[in-house]
Amino acid sequence: MNQLKSKFLLFFILLFVAYLLAGCTQAPQAHTEFVFGTVCSINLFKQGSDERYQALFMRLRELDAILSANRDDSTIAKINAAAGITPVYAEKEILDILGPALEFAEKSGGRFNPAIGPLVRLWNIGNEGATVPKKSEITNALKIIDWRSIHIDHDLNTVFLEKVGMRLDLGAIAKGYAANEAAKMIHNWGLQRGIIDLGGNILVIGSKEPGKPWHIGIRNPEISGGNSIVSLHVSNISVVTSGVNERFFIEGDKQYHHILDPKTGYPAENELLSVSVLSADSMVADALSTTLFLLGTKKSMSFLAEFPGVDAIFIDKAHAVRVTKGLQGSIQILDPSFHQNY
Ligand code: AMP
Ligand code: MG
Repeated sequence: MNQLKSKFLLFFILLFVAYLLAGCTQAPQAHTEFVFGTVCSINLFKQGSDERYQALFMRLRELDAILSANRDDSTIAKINAAAGITPVYAEKEILDILGPALEFAEKSGGRFNPAIGPLVRLWNIGNEGATVPKKSEITNALKIIDWRSIHIDHDLNTVFLEKVGMRLDLGAIAKGYAANEAAKMIHNWGLQRGIIDLGGNILVIGSKEPGKPWHIGIRNPEISGGNSIVSLHVSNISVVTSGVNERFFIEGDKQYHHILDPKTGYPAENELLSVSVLSADSMVADALSTTLFLLGTKKSMSFLAEFPGVDAIFIDKAHAVRVTKGLQGSIQILDPSFHQNY
């Protein structure tokens, strides 16, 4: 009897040790780092490994080092410092982003503006001590945000900003490009499943399980880090949101957010709280989410006719949620204070 008891005990001890060992050798399931000034995480589930996460985040950090408008040593900073003086050599990545960025500027009548840098710097939104700038400062900044004064030389691989004081800012599109780059690496490894989340700029690869899509939530745009108020089921797609709750400050009784209207020099103001864009191409989704936010719901609906396969979710100040045709009937509203409008 005693022998039986000790055998049982040994069995359970071995089971426990096996359980612990399994825990130790399990693939790391997700990796999170602070890159692009935000929390970025990538989850490759069972196919995740330290080597893969290291390679992915090395690429993200490399892109940040080239593309960031907020660090002195980036290529963007060098192009900005040479504004009005000389063209600067630009990596392929910059040219890959700047070309489409200028197209979005053209198509949106200049609302999407990669030369918005002087205004972004003036407002300093999302950083310590941000306040509403003086009217005269805004007027001066508006004189040097002409995106048509950005010149790309494709033979010499250079970028030249024509006027002194001009500054490129790719903050509205760079994370989308970075998500595409990470997805390319994951595809090249032959993996079919993963989630890339670069500060809310989401790209899902494959589906959750065969035949079962991922569940994505759209946060309440009235609250910083709010709960999901809309849910949708998606596979192989990027979902990117631009909204009033991402970066902002409050002065007096007014909230000033980070998407600036190049016409007025102030944060864009219309009926919208947020726009989420769905596209297989995360750079397109990123550029479009900012553009549509600036255009407002009505203009966006016709603007999107040029982008087949792209869908959007508009959430407005009256708590109405509107979706494009491709999403009709496929979203769920999770918060009863919001309602779907057709
Ligand atoms: P997103 O969160 O993708 O909508 O991008 C917002 C970021 O893009 C801001 O933090 C700025 O760096 C930059 N930005 C602000 N206004 C504009 C604009 N009108 N066009 C292009 N980029 C902008
Ligand atoms: Mg964007």
